[in-house]
Amino acid sequence: MTSTPVIPAHLLPEDGRFGAGPSRVRPEQLAALAREGTRLLGTSHRQNPVKDLVARVQAGLARFFDLPAGYEMVLGLGGASTFWDSAAFSLVRSRAEHLVFGEFGAKFASVTDRAPFLERSHVIEAPAGSRPAGPRPEAGVDVYAWPQNETSTGVAMPVRRVPVDDALTVVDATSAAGGMAVDLAQTDVYYFSPQKNFGSDGGIWFAAFSPAALERVERIAASDRWIPDVLSLATAVENSRKHQTYNTPALAGLVMLDEQVRWLNEQGGLQWAAARTAQSSSLVYEWAESSPVAHPFVAEPEHRSPVVCTVDFDDAVDAARVAGVLRANGVVDVDPYRKLGRNQLRIATFASVPPSDVRALLECIDWTVAELA
Ligand SMILES: *Cc1c(COP(=O)(O)O)cnc(C)c1O
Repeated sequence: MTSTPVIPAHLLPEDGRFGAGPSRVRPEQLAALAREGTRLLGTSHRQNPVKDLVARVQAGLARFFDLPAGYEMVLGLGGASTFWDSAAFSLVRSRAEHLVFGEFGAKFASVTDRAPFLERSHVIEAPAGSRPAGPRPEAGVDVYAWPQNETSTGVAMPVRRVPVDDALTVVDATSAAGGMAVDLAQTDVYYFSPQKNFGSDGGIWFAAFSPAALERVERIAASDRWIPDVLSLATAVENSRKHQTYNTPALAGLVMLDEQVRWLNEQGGLQWAAARTAQSSSLVYEWAESSPVAHPFVAEPEHRSPVVCTVDFDDAVDAARVAGVLRANGVVDVDPYRKLGRNQLRIATFASVPPSDVRALLECIDWTVAELA
């Protein structure tokens, strides 16, 4: 039995959290929690100051995303996975088309596919590590859906509206939002959970809704379809307009999110964040391309995610052992997506991760690989 190698302290990143969600929470977010907490935690979500907090987050996100006129920032409890069920009940009229190139896109596709009141979904699939050419207009489809960033594989997909009358373009931006450029006018619903680029807690979703999406929600709510109360998007819209949620939210995450959105806007907003993740991810991909034992999992450089970098290792290197050594040294959550089953490391280069820490991580990986050889 050999003991776990100890990485020299001078090589270690300042902060060892590189997870793709939950992700690094900046110390300033925790300080905000300590500062604001006594005033906010344990008080009613139907009163100020909690409603002010929610309104501030909504306005901060609207500013960050340059929310187009007529769009609304809606929120609800349960996270992106819950949003899939809500979308099946409240957004899809009869049939959805999904681009599936990883676990998260597949999960949403499965939700609308199995909904007994909807037609079978139209699924366009591509193998892990690649992506479909794009959405294909299809008769009877009224929602076109795909993830902007497939977190399980590290593949990014462009966000461009599907030009079909009366159809909605619905984008899962859970790991993209806050770290990848987007023009919201190209979407009808752009939804995300805040435990990725926004470095907050999960359990809640936010979504920018276009006027067409708001109208769709209203029409379906007025139809005779049964919609569970907690999943109803009409109820979420109504509550969001009052800076509330239908049922009781966890407030700590909202405080941390508020601080993160404030910080991001102060740094220069989405443009700044996208430039930073581009820089950090380039460090990883360039390192992998020049490494004798590692290479980017996503073959096509244009498809590579700027926020979730997947790196395959040759058989000579046991990536799980490398991740284990890193973890023992406080550098955590670079394990690959569990169901992908590859000899791989997955490194999140979200906006909260400074490029200097990415550089340090790569040095730690090189050191560990050499040590285990
Ligand atoms: C993390 C993630 C989800 C799931 O988010 P939850 O908040 O855990 O439901 C969905 N889609 C994508 C693209 C993700 O990265």
